[in-house]
Amino acid sequence: MEIHRIPSTDFAEIWEAKDASQNFHAYIALHSLKRGPAIGGLRFWQYPNAAAALEDAQQLARTMTYKAALARLPHGGGKAVMIQPNTEYDRNTLMKLFGQFVLYLQGRYITAKDVGTHAQDMQVIRQETHWVTGLPQTSGGLGDPSQPTALGVALGIEVCLDHAFPTRPKKIRVAVQGLGGVGGQLVGHLEKKGYEIWATDISPLQILAFSQNPHFHSVLPEAILSTPCEVFAPCALGQVLNTKTIPLLQSKIIAGSANNPLKKEQREANALQQRGILYAPDFVINTGGLIHVAAEWAKSEKSSLENALEIIPQNLKEIFDLAEAEHLNPLQAALQRGEKLLRA
Ligand code: NAD
Repeated sequence: MEIHRIPSTDFAEIWEAKDASQNFHAYIALHSLKRGPAIGGLRFWQYPNAAAALEDAQQLARTMTYKAALARLPHGGGKAVMIQPNTEYDRNTLMKLFGQFVLYLQGRYITAKDVGTHAQDMQVIRQETHWVTGLPQTSGGLGDPSQPTALGVALGIEVCLDHAFPTRPKKIRVAVQGLGGVGGQLVGHLEKKGYEIWATDISPLQILAFSQNPHFHSVLPEAILSTPCEVFAPCALGQVLNTKTIPLLQSKIIAGSANNPLKKEQREANALQQRGILYAPDFVINTGGLIHVAAEWAKSEKSSLENALEIIPQNLKEIFDLAEAEHLNPLQAALQRGEKLLRA
């Protein structure tokens, strides 16, 4: 395997690793190591080209810096992307090579699950390096981080509803895009509250799992953005909100787990504000998974996790208040708050 550093002025470190014989190609972007070793998931996904994969790793890593700071964690921001080959490959071989890549960085990066990877993959990576978290409970980990992520998003949605609606509407409709690890469990939390769910996934099997639920309605993937609702919860991939899709929205709130849901952050955050749509920044509301994997890394008890998630509603309240007081959009307010914590 060849590993080399990519020069960068605004990132602490960026690394690329390749092993052509195994179709292995991955990037690790470490945006900041100021608060401690970077912690962030491994995304295993098909990309149109290597430049797109690198850009994704960088964007995600930058967000992780703010996410860790706002969650008051002793970690910097980093993320890894492994390009899913479009030819045959052996998954375990790729994960082991990735483990060796992580080992090479000697603890400056701790990996975890992200889109396209699972706790079992982390177990395979663990064979090569101990700088991995998000392991299955059977291997001494705290289990799937999607659970606390979903719970954190559900807590955040409550803050958004309080903020956007001085009087709560009798019926609350939530449109959920993506019924995977987080989206699926979010539906459970929302159904318990009695909310109506309108949801979609590109995988019909994921939808089928909910089809018997009394408050669940399925929507075609292309119709989810224009579904009339109080809350749109993006829980699939990023960049779903852009100049084409924002005019379609029929919701008052955007609050979901997807990382980087805004294509051009400031432009889209302003467009949402102009449309009177309250935006809960991704790196504030989807922190549950990071809090979970950081707790596993610090060997904290699972029982302390639910209390730790309270930072999510607390941060959101502060950010919405700051945005109002200083005439900012919530993204600007969250970044300002994150910068302050990074300087502290
Ligand atoms: P996942 O891979 O388990 O689920 C994603 C789901 O989205 C899949 O079911 C997929 O079929 C579906 N999907 C993909 N494209 C779609 C589209 N265009 N329309 C509808 N459905 C689509 O991933 P996850 O762990 O649930 O994560 C979801 C999002 O939340 C990602 O952006 C991830 O980065 C972010 N996130 C996850 C965690 C976590 O703990 N898992 C933490 C923070 C952020």
